[in-house]
Amino acid sequence: MVNAFQTALAQLERAAQLKKIDSKIFERLRHLDREVVISIPVTMDDGMQKIFTGYRVEHNNARGPYKGGIRYHQDVDINEVRALALWMTMKCAVAGIPMGGGKGGVTVNPKDLSEGELERLTRGWAKGMMDILGPRKDVPAPDVNTRSVEMDLIADEYAKATGDASGAVITGKSLEHGGSEGRGTATAQGSFYVFEALREKIGLPEKCRVVIQGFGNAGLHAAEIWTRAGHVLVATSDSKGAVYKEDGLDVAALSAHKKTTGSVVNILGAATITNAELLTTECDLLIPAALENQITSANAADIKAKVVFELANGPTSTEADDLLFAGMVLVVPDILANAGGVTVSTYEWEQNLKGEHWSEQEVFAKLKTNLQAQALHVWEEAKSAKTDLRRGAFLLALKRLEEVMK
Ligand code: NAD
Repeated sequence: MVNAFQTALAQLERAAQLKKIDSKIFERLRHLDREVVISIPVTMDDGMQKIFTGYRVEHNNARGPYKGGIRYHQDVDINEVRALALWMTMKCAVAGIPMGGGKGGVTVNPKDLSEGELERLTRGWAKGMMDILGPRKDVPAPDVNTRSVEMDLIADEYAKATGDASGAVITGKSLEHGGSEGRGTATAQGSFYVFEALREKIGLPEKCRVVIQGFGNAGLHAAEIWTRAGHVLVATSDSKGAVYKEDGLDVAALSAHKKTTGSVVNILGAATITNAELLTTECDLLIPAALENQITSANAADIKAKVVFELANGPTSTEADDLLFAGMVLVVPDILANAGGVTVSTYEWEQNLKGEHWSEQEVFAKLKTNLQAQALHVWEEAKSAKTDLRRGAFLLALKRLEEVMK
C-alpha cells in the first residue's frame, strides 16, 4: 500500500507536470527541510515509565514560519507526518497566509492515557522540541486527538523556557490563554465558505443531501453548519460505526448521544450501516472528515456522491482521484477545503503578536472574504490548465511558492 507521503509527492508531481516549474524549486519542495524524532519518557500513574515517539517535520518556510498541527494517534508514523507537513506548505500558500508547512505527532492512543499522563506526554513533547519552536520559527496547532488543553500546556512550557508568554508560539489555545474567537469551528466554517463560493459552479443544488465520514471536531461542526443552512445530513460515522436516516439525522441529538455513549452508533430512529457502506451512500456531497486514504481504488468506482469535499487531510488516493474524475465525481481538495483551520490559527498568531483580541464576527468576516476569493482562484487555475481542482490548487500554491523562493 502506498503511504501518505508517496500520495502527497505524487500529487505535487502530477501538478508540476502541467506547468514549467523551476527545477531547483521543485526539488526543494520534494524534500523536507528538517525532521525531528524524539523519545518521550512518561511516568505513568502506576509509577512505571513508558517511552513514546514524538515527531516534528518541517517541510518549507519560504512563505513564513513552519505551521501545522500535532496529532496523537496510534498509527502516527514518520511518513504520515511528512505528508501532512507537505500538504501544510501547499495549504498555507493556497490560503494566501504568511506561513510555511510543518506537522507534528506522537504515536499514542490518547484514550489509553489519563489526563495526568497526557499532560506529562505533552510537556515532554514540548521540552523535546523546544529548540525548533518559536513564533517566527515553527508554530504548531491542534490536529486529530489534540485540544486547546494540549496547546495551553505547550505555550506554558515555551513561556517557562524562554520568558515569551505572548502565546504566539502555538495556536488553537483556549480563549483564557490567548486563543482566537472562532478557532474551534474554523475548519468547518471555512469549508462551508468554500462550498458556498463553488456550489453553483460544481453543479450542486441549493439543498444538498450530505454524508459526513467522521463525527469529530471537523465533522461535527460541519454537520451543524450544513444542517443549519438547510442541507440534510443523511449519514455519518465514527471509528465505531455509521448511521443512516433517509429524511435526515438530528445533529444535536447525535452530538448528545456521542457525548454519553462515546459513539454515533445506536442512535434512536437511524439505521446502522458499515463504515464502508457510508462512503458509497447515495448523496450530493460526501465529506470525509476522519483520516487519510479512505477513498482508494477499492471503492472509488462505487462512490455515488456528486462531489467529494475533503475536510480531512489526504482522504483520497491518487488512483482514486483518477477513478473519480473518470466517473465525473468532482473532488474539492483538502488544501483548499479545510484551510479555514490554519487561516484562523494564523489570525490567532497575529493577534498574539500584536496583543489584540478580535471578535468572532471580525474573524469570520476575514475568513469568509479570504477563503471565498482563494476558492475562485483555485477554480480559475484549474480551468485555465484544463485540469481537476486538486491540480489547480497545487498549481496555485506552486506559483505563490515560486514567487518567494526565487
Ligand atoms: P477528531 O479526532 O476530532 O475526529 C476524527 C473523527 O473521525 C472521530 O470521530 C473518529 O471516531 C472518526 N474516525 C476515525 N477513523 C474513522 C473511520 N475509519 N471511519 C469513520 N470515522 C472514523 O479529528 P479532527 O480534528 O476532526 O480531524 C479530522 C480530519 O480533519 C483530519 O484529517 C485532520 O487532519 C483534518 N483537519 C482538522 C483540522 C482541525 O482544525 N481540527 C483542520 C484541518 C484539517
